[in-house]
Formats: sequence, C-alpha cells, structure tokens
Amino acid sequence: MASEYAFDTTRKSGELAAVIKNGVCSAKVVDPGAFTKHAVELIGRVHSSEYVRAVQTGNPGHLAESQGFTWDPKLPTMVVAHSAGLVAAVTRVLVGTDRVAGSLSSGLHHARRDHGAGFCTFNGLAVAAAAARELGAERLLVLDLDAHCGGGTRSLTDPANVAQIEVSTSSYDHWSASGHDALLMANPGNYVAQVSEALDRADRAGRFDIVLYNAGMDPANSEVSGTDLALRERMVADWADRRGFGLVFALAGGYTGAALSMGDLVALHKLTVDAFA
Ligand SMILES: [Zn+2]
Repeated sequence: MASEYAFDTTRKSGELAAVIKNGVCSAKVVDPGAFTKHAVELIGRVHSSEYVRAVQTGNPGHLAESQGFTWDPKLPTMVVAHSAGLVAAVTRVLVGTDRVAGSLSSGLHHARRDHGAGFCTFNGLAVAAAAARELGAERLLVLDLDAHCGGGTRSLTDPANVAQIEVSTSSYDHWSASGHDALLMANPGNYVAQVSEALDRADRAGRFDIVLYNAGMDPANSEVSGTDLALRERMVADWADRRGFGLVFALAGGYTGAALSMGDLVALHKLTVDAFA
C-alpha cells in the first residue's frame, strides 16, 4: 500500500501542475528550489537529529521507513522538497508578495519529532509554522480539513502561538483539544455544517497573522460529495478573504480507488487551487 500511496501523492501533484501550467486555471506554480537549504535547516529544528539522519542515509531502516515507505536514495530529496514548497509559500505571504500561496505537496500532519507516521516523513505544516514564526508571525492558525486528524502537527507546534482547528472524518491520529483548539468529527451528512462551525471557532479564537490550511480531499474517500468539498473550498477562501488573513494551502490527502479515478482526484484538488487563485 505504501508504494500505491506514494504513487498517488506524487502523480496527482504532477498532473495538477500540468493542468495549471496548461492555463486551465489561473494559479501559479512556484519552484521551491531556492528554499531547499532553509527547509533543511527548519526540518532540523522540528525533527530530532537522529531521525533526520536516518531519513538522509536510510539507516537505521526502522526509523528511515517509519512513515511506511520503502527507503530509496531519492526519498530525502523528495521529502525535503515537500517542506521547501511550504516554506516558499509562507515566505511569499509573509513578505507581502501574495496574500494567498499554495504548495502542491501535502501538509504531512502525522509526522512526529523523532519518527514518521501514516506515510508522512517530515511534518510540512510544523516546518511551515517554524518558517512563519521566524518571519515574525505571532499568531498562527492550522486549519486542517484532511479526513484524518493531525496529531503529529499538534505535537510539534506551541499552543501558545499556534491554534489548531480541524474537521475530520476519521479518528486516525486523534488528539485532545483544549483552549482555542477544536477537533470536530464529521460525516457526509453534517460535513458542511461542521466546516462552518470550525470557521466560527476560528473567529472566536481571534486574529491570525497567517493561516496554514491543510486542504485534504480524502473526505471524498469517506463519501463526502464533490459538491460539498467545492463548497468547503469557497467557504474557507471567502472566510480568509473577508478577514484579510494571509493563507498558505497544502493539498494533503486524497486517494484513487474504486469510486475515484485519477481524473476525479485531480479535479477535486483543482477545486482548492481554483478557490484560492
Ligand atoms: Zn488524510
């Protein structure tokens, strides 16, 4: 299953990038190459040195493959690129180049300080939060609407300056919410209502210098409709727009299956790019 997961995650980003480059939608794909060095430095702050070394070298194998992938020499470059994309997007927003920017990589919200989990190697959202703090953001919101919970990210950020609000359809990587945090469980029947409740909770939590939005499309794998996911993207985009919040999105989960072809999946992720373009 790991290789299948990697295949979906890698291939859907490539196909979506092609759609964007072909001018089918108006967003720009930014090359994160210039942020690689900075991303490596931030990964070294978010994750333990023993774990980072394991991912770089493949040894020890149990750590290098703790996310669920078979290690190969290309893995370190790929997982650093995921974080670099988010660091590039955060930088564009906080230096004022764009109010909204996105990365075609995932938020990778299950990764922990000293090991990977749930096919997440380095926690891109936690790396993005570290980049934002360094650029002067005082209050951050992680808005995680991936189907799965983001317990990894919550374990890697400081609740004193990072609030985390989620709507999940699966209890995987569940965490316990306190303060301004919220972890709302949803099903296809109440999904949009729970997203609306999440945005209300975010309003009650105050103002944010930046919103890190993990825009998973895997609620579709739990039978949330494409119509509801399209509505969700417009709700989040309008909400951030009305409040003037800077926002960085990551594509996050979404998997092909019996009821979801690669074309369907790319169309779902394109909803996010279109809503924020
Ligand atoms: Zn997920």
